[in-house]
Amino acid sequence: MTIIASNWKMNLDRQSAEQLLVEMASCPVGDKVKRIVFPSFTLLDLARATREQIGLANHLALGGQDCHAAANGAHTGDVSAAMLIESGCQWVLVGHSERRQNHKESSATIAAKLEMAQAEGLSVMLCVGENLAERQSGHAEATVTAMLSGSLPHKVDGAKLAIAYEPVWAIGTGMTATPENVMEMHQAIHKYLKNSGLNDVPVLYGGSVNPENANTLLALEQVDGVLVGGASLDAKSINAITLAAEI
Ligand code: PEP
Repeated sequence: MTIIASNWKMNLDRQSAEQLLVEMASCPVGDKVKRIVFPSFTLLDLARATREQIGLANHLALGGQDCHAAANGAHTGDVSAAMLIESGCQWVLVGHSERRQNHKESSATIAAKLEMAQAEGLSVMLCVGENLAERQSGHAEATVTAMLSGSLPHKVDGAKLAIAYEPVWAIGTGMTATPENVMEMHQAIHKYLKNSGLNDVPVLYGGSVNPENANTLLALEQVDGVLVGGASLDAKSINAITLAAEI
């Protein structure tokens, strides 16, 4: 199974989101590929209704871009895992580098979110990745392993988990990790998961994935899918990336 996940971030209005989903529906996808879309919270209801109308409900899962670690309470501006489920989500992203950086989220906070999300019934896509200084100083693997160890709670359900390896320096920059970088890092992540008793957890690559590099990335044995930001906003691009997974 290959996962093609779209992170729409804080983009798209209702009309363009609907149009994008309709165009995504025109892409023939076999049983080998699972698609997930992570829209902004305010687009979830529209995404749910649209995918039902156009017959995508069984072929495209929905996810929230974040959730709070608490079940409910005085957390202005936040969204709970239960609210995501009520809005039609099966998935949630946690630990994206934009949240770690811009919202100063620690790995401990992310672990608490992951635990709550799984307890409520969501599958979780946990993002990890080193920054440029960490890569250049030869600490990429150690950084990512430490992030995994800090962001995975003691109680974790491997059947409701995916990891997205997203080197921070490759996100939205047009710079993609080399196939050798990706292979090395995915091998290290798979090894860490296995040693933690978490078998068969998919490990996705994210960071400037586009129709030109998708074939090479998806052909790597250790890559179980891709998490796509910028290119996921364009129907032609995300459909081409999806088709690359079929090969
Ligand atoms: C992301 O932010 O998850 C991402 C992979 O973005 P981009 O594809 O734009 O680098």
